[in-house]
Amino acid sequence: AADLPLLRIDAVVKKFGAFCAVDRLSLDIRAGEFFALLGPSGCGKTTLLRMLAGFETPDEGRILLDGRDIAPVSPHRRPVNMMFQNYALFPHLTVRDNIAFGLRRAGMPRPQIAARVAEMVALVKLEGLEKRKPDQLSGGQRQRVALARSLARRPQVLLLDEPLAALDKKLRESTQAELMELQRRLGMTFIIVTHDQEEAMTVADRIGVMDNGRLEQVAAPRELYEAPSSRWIAEFVGDINLFDGQVASREAGRVTISTKDAGTIVVAEPRQPITKTIVAVAIRPEKMKLSRRGPVADALSAHAINRLEGVVTDVGYLGGLTTYKVKLDSGAMVRSSMANTARLDIDAYSAGQRVVAWFTPDDC
Ligand code: ADP
Ligand code: MG
Repeated sequence: AADLPLLRIDAVVKKFGAFCAVDRLSLDIRAGEFFALLGPSGCGKTTLLRMLAGFETPDEGRILLDGRDIAPVSPHRRPVNMMFQNYALFPHLTVRDNIAFGLRRAGMPRPQIAARVAEMVALVKLEGLEKRKPDQLSGGQRQRVALARSLARRPQVLLLDEPLAALDKKLRESTQAELMELQRRLGMTFIIVTHDQEEAMTVADRIGVMDNGRLEQVAAPRELYEAPSSRWIAEFVGDINLFDGQVASREAGRVTISTKDAGTIVVAEPRQPITKTIVAVAIRPEKMKLSRRGPVADALSAHAINRLEGVVTDVGYLGGLTTYKVKLDSGAMVRSSMANTARLDIDAYSAGQRVVAWFTPDDC
């Protein structure tokens, strides 16, 4: 059926001795989706991919591809291919032979292999390098060979385990763009593993955040960032200001919260209404605006604006934006980041300056 997920991971468990690396994890992946598994080192990302590829067997649960349990299907017969973290290229084989390796093993006739390798070489833009060995290639080129090799058998699902971790920032960013372009062009399903939240946000249609072998939240990048389902996710995905507090009162979609570090804060009732008394108020740095005298616009002051006073302690100029640390009069630190859209030096704050850090109820 059209609404059947391409891949269904159903209550999968993987233990190493007494240690549970993947803990009853369930997840549906749609055909043609670019999905990112994001989580700290050791949370079970690679183990999950290895089970999808068939290199590990789940202790419990099932993995269904197109509705069929793939447990009996051996790794090289699965329409699922994995590109490894360290590329795992054969050092003694040329680029061409590395790419052809899986095709030969699958018994593809020679002329077809030659044609497919040429197609893959063109796809990842390695023309002219076919006869080189891995040690005669740059890191970026080796990454392309590994990619071409894992795509050569035209799998339905490509698993990428931290494919860009070894590349420098510039190359990583351009390769991210190429991966997205490739995925769209081939219409394939990509599952990428990363511990880099910006990378996950950049490439993925949806992100699954893992911790301790479990999925904490599965959501589109924007929802993950703007409506994290837990304090842990709020802190793991991007920077955030957090104020611990207690619900004091609520009316008309506004909740008043008493905090130790930031006094009384008024927040908009979240989509999932607050049910607890002990809460944390979370504000992203880019929502924490700085001002010399507080906001000027009357339109803004019509809202119950939250104002915190303090002194700028750190200024980090990052080109497109500047980050500020402000020490509030309560002693707490807050972070603010503001886009540098104004003319030179306008709106810039310097260390030692007194400022008002402000945000609206909807910014929380
Ligand atoms: P990630 O890829 O998220 O960094 P892994 O899936 O590689 O995490 O590992 C998850 C946990 O399982 C880690 O604590 C790791 O030490 C453990 N682990 C992974 N593979 C094995 C194994 N073959 N034997 C024992 N422990 C393992
Ligand atoms: Mg890993």
